Amino acid sequence: MFRKILIANRGEIALRIIHACRELGIPTVAVYSTADRDSLHVTYADEDVCIGPPPSGGSYLNVTALISAAEITGADAVHPGYGFLAENARFAEVLAECRLGWIGPRPETIRLMGDKARARETAKSCGVPVLPGSEGALADAASAKRLAAEIGYPVILKAAAGGGGRGMRIVHQEKDLEGHLTTAANEAAKAFGDGSIYLEKYLVEPRHVEFQVFGDRHGAAVHLGERECSIQRRHQKLIEESPSPALTPELRRRMGEAAVRLCEAVGYENAGTIEFLLDRDGSFYFMEMNTRIQVEHPVTEMVTGTDLVKQQILVAAGERLDLPNGPEPRGHAIECRINAEDPETFAPSPGRLTTLHLPGGPGVRVDTHAYQDYVIPPHYDSLVAKLICHGSDRAEAIARTARALDFLVVEGIRTSVQLHRRIVRDSQFVAGALSTRFMEQFLEREQIARRSHGAGREGKDS
Ligand code: ADP
Repeated sequence: MFRKILIANRGEIALRIIHACRELGIPTVAVYSTADRDSLHVTYADEDVCIGPPPSGGSYLNVTALISAAEITGADAVHPGYGFLAENARFAEVLAECRLGWIGPRPETIRLMGDKARARETAKSCGVPVLPGSEGALADAASAKRLAAEIGYPVILKAAAGGGGRGMRIVHQEKDLEGHLTTAANEAAKAFGDGSIYLEKYLVEPRHVEFQVFGDRHGAAVHLGERECSIQRRHQKLIEESPSPALTPELRRRMGEAAVRLCEAVGYENAGTIEFLLDRDGSFYFMEMNTRIQVEHPVTEMVTGTDLVKQQILVAAGERLDLPNGPEPRGHAIECRINAEDPETFAPSPGRLTTLHLPGGPGVRVDTHAYQDYVIPPHYDSLVAKLICHGSDRAEAIARTARALDFLVVEGIRTSVQLHRRIVRDSQFVAGALSTRFMEQFLEREQIARRSHGAGREGKDS
């Protein structure tokens, strides 16, 4: 087993990894930028090392500083969390060259799945359905046009190296294709250092349903059920739940089998997520694989009773996977991402938390690095806390989420709390009628209600 683990991350996930290490009796090393000196992950780790200035390029992405921190403290393994270097195959290789353990999949797998066009081809080759689209990256505009005409519009252009919902373009008609292709390629080259673009059929109102998978180096591969992540803003997830209200046991079995088949085909080690789009007729299509622990992993933990981060550490240390394949979900869990952002414009809202009161009670879990008087720095993502509520069924999970959101007080910054309160009381949400267009339609419904309410009042006043 590892002697000491360095956590190459910050925020709630750094703290989450400390929780797992503590329970396993493994000492931890926190690294931090000068903007994160007062962060809880620094307080709770056994040791800490400052690795650089606030911009992540000089700190959380600074491979030399991270390796030095591991050497100085005698850490023998690194957990990357999510984001930053979590899906950087080169970082995993450098660690191996320095004889440091890596808590994640093999670098070859990260590289293969990190190229979304190649990942798509890999899925296809092992019989996992993919949407009609290009084989690998697009060669030029003319071939893109030919392909799009064959598939039928709308189509979506995606950056092969993309992530975080960036670098995607929906194209509704041929005359827009070339222009979108040029801007998407330029944007991708700038953001990811790789301008390769691929194309696939765009589904108009699908659900985003992803499977948690796990593999070990002894050849075992399992899935731990799904998460529905259809509630998104600008392709970024806002609310996730498990199980998906759309899946029958039969569909879960088929999708789970496809996910495991792909894992086996690539010899997948450690935790991963296979994302699918689920169409209204029950057809599902591979979208991409994330080769790391996800933000939304807690909903799976709640319904399967497992600690995924502990499993990651055990499996990385060479132990055999101790997880069942396709367990029956126990109850229902919902996660709300509490972001420091303007509820109207969704612009980041960093600053001091003048009041913070976290809810508790049955079935409520809050994963956060925040505390009263904590100052959210402007340099990183806007996730402040994850509120995860578990109930015996979806109705109880919703009721718990609603009351926990009512008891959650965050003052001093703007947050998404109020938006979550409205969503969990929305009739479509309660009915489980979800799709990736949910947010767009929800905001429209609210606007119409406001307008008619305003009109009604005007009528009464006059
Ligand atoms: P990223 O890696 O940037 O998050 P994904 O490929 O995971 O990108 O896609 C993010 C979101 O974009 C999906 O959850 C879905 O809402 C939307 N999306 C992606 N591909 C399609 C498609 N072919 N049809 C409809 N929506 C799509």
